[in-house]
Amino acid sequence: MRFAVRRTWRNQLGNQRIDPLRIYEPRTVADVQAIVRLARERGVPVRAVGSGHSWSDVALTEGFLLEPTGMARVPAPEPDFLAPEWTRRRLVRAEAGARIKELNAYLDANGMGLSNMGGYDHQTIAGVTATSTHGSGIAFGPLNDALRSLDVVVGDGSVQRIEPAGGPTDRAAYEAHHGGERTLVQDDDVFDAVCVGIGCMGVICSALVEVRERFFLREVRELHPWAKVRADLLDGAVLDAHEHYELAFSPYDDGYAHPFLVTTRDTIDDPRHRLWHARTRNLLVEAAALFPLTPHVINLLLDLRPSLAPKLLLASLRALVKKRYDNVSFKVFNIGAANILPAYSCEIGVPIDGRHIEAVETIFRVARERRELGRVYQSSPIALRFVKASPAHLSMMNGRDTMMIELIGLNGNDGGIELLKAYEEALYALGGRPHWGHLNTLSGSHGFVASMYPRHADWLAVRARLDPDGVFDSPFTKRAGLSSDRFVP
Ligand SMILES: Cc1cc2nc3c(=O)[nH]c(=O)nc-3n(C[C@H](O)[C@H](O)[C@H](O)COP(=O)(O)OP(=O)(O)OC[C@H]3O[C@@H](n4cnc5c(N)ncnc54)[C@H](O)[C@@H]3O)c2cc1C
Repeated sequence: MRFAVRRTWRNQLGNQRIDPLRIYEPRTVADVQAIVRLARERGVPVRAVGSGHSWSDVALTEGFLLEPTGMARVPAPEPDFLAPEWTRRRLVRAEAGARIKELNAYLDANGMGLSNMGGYDHQTIAGVTATSTHGSGIAFGPLNDALRSLDVVVGDGSVQRIEPAGGPTDRAAYEAHHGGERTLVQDDDVFDAVCVGIGCMGVICSALVEVRERFFLREVRELHPWAKVRADLLDGAVLDAHEHYELAFSPYDDGYAHPFLVTTRDTIDDPRHRLWHARTRNLLVEAAALFPLTPHVINLLLDLRPSLAPKLLLASLRALVKKRYDNVSFKVFNIGAANILPAYSCEIGVPIDGRHIEAVETIFRVARERRELGRVYQSSPIALRFVKASPAHLSMMNGRDTMMIELIGLNGNDGGIELLKAYEEALYALGGRPHWGHLNTLSGSHGFVASMYPRHADWLAVRARLDPDGVFDSPFTKRAGLSSDRFVP
């Protein structure tokens, strides 16, 4: 099998890079098995990457790096062997390297749609499940909660189909087809560990996703002051009143008492015959985000006059207000051109139990202090999304309904990374858990990660079974205390 050597791998933003020993592009499950077996034999670590949309070091490896492009078919060629009670559900098996974008195109063409997704669609299916990527809407868990079955090449190079108890695969049909060559595991504990595996449980080759019929959404965006949003969040009814509810805000109160852009999304009938302006986002804002010089102009302005930041944030939130945007679901979920601005982000989840209100006010405080002490400013609106509790052991949403706080900074903004670290530190005191794929300063020392996740030990126990030799260890697993040496009692 061919591979590249002496090639640098970079993530999409370019803030993470590494020179692995080899870069492979496997095309089949058998290719992946051969790579993992060779790595184990030679004592070299392996890591599959997605499309490199993690800002953290979670995808880096010094050993064999597997790129996803050769295994990106929708539907996947693997047969499902569905048990009879599952045949009436809407299920699609996709290869792990397919991006949400390709999955959506297939679903749309076949009258289906994802129930929910994040604000972007360039990440791969394996990538989003590995880090528990999420959207917003308190009735919806993260994307990994829509998965029903995963085909994984584990640490000894064998293939396991991993599902919850009572999962979709008919055991007799599966075993008759594969003989003893592959194993079907139907076990809640294993499934809940593997679906948010952070690249450590093996190489995911394909995933069976449960979807729904094609549907349409209306998005409404209004500007409100913190006082109103605070009262709504305290009351809580607003989270159930809309299918999808999310917020973007400025931490400053210059000229407006903390402006919050409130976005709601609800199902509507097919809007095909409505006027074009109801079926588009604000075109000027989209064009400005697409214009390559926009971030440089903003950074230049902020360098010359940092104190302009609060005004710029208020103006950008005002520009996003819109009475309605109606379209097919996946286009409305995608927040549009803002995704391609060169920016990085740190995202922390806090429980929706009163600490979510404290968290917002903590951000106001940190922003105020950093401005007073060092003239450091927030360069982009901060987003709040609301996600249902997930059973996945290491999902940031594990066991609690969660408000995810996305702290975004424009690339190149002076003091921006340090500002995110200051927010992160302050939010840990409120039970914060960082998104695995976003910038974070997590450390495995002092039982820090273990203290955040009640199922941490169960996750490590499953990892010890699937990867006893630490084939999927990496610089990140060492930093976060998730490496194989942790298995030793
Ligand atoms: C513009 C942008 C928008 C974003 N929007 C959101 C959002 O709305 N919501 C949200 O929650 N996050 C969001 N993120 C974060 C992003 O969704 C996650 O970091 C996601 O994990 C990236 O997926 P990827 O395919 O790029 O995977 P990578 O970043 O390449 O890898 C992520 C992890 O997945 C593992 N992995 C990849 N493939 C496999 C495989 N085949 N088998 C086993 N493990 C594998 C890697 O080892 C790594 O640990 C966004 C990021 C960007 C840059």
